[in-house]
Amino acid sequence: MNTMKNSSKTKLTVTVDVEILKGAKKVSGEKRIPLSRAIENFLKFFAKPEVYCFKCGEKFSVDEAELCPKCGWMICPNCKACRCGLSEETAIAVFHMRRVYEELLAGRVKG
Ligand SMILES: [Zn+2]
Ligand SMILES: [Zn+2]
Repeated sequence: MNTMKNSSKTKLTVTVDVEILKGAKKVSGEKRIPLSRAIENFLKFFAKPEVYCFKCGEKFSVDEAELCPKCGWMICPNCKACRCGLSEETAIAVFHMRRVYEELLAGRVKG
């Protein structure tokens, strides 16, 4: 599989909810982003999710991150941060933000 090169294009036929497609086309028109590019971006994220570290802000691939055996969160490969170093309040905030990814990916980000 060649994931680095994106030069070849293929046609994708999918069946989606009419209202969802209507809403997506409206936004893609407003933002001047072709729907195919928006879908491509999502599929890229879906296949290889990348997140930003809540502490140092570095982007890392979920696939490459290790899970902390203590807290069960992904450990940032750059600064080694996980939930263990967070206060309860911050941990809750991060947890809720992470739910956005999980709903997008229809499951847990990792673990
Ligand atoms: Zn970090
Ligand atoms: Zn931890």
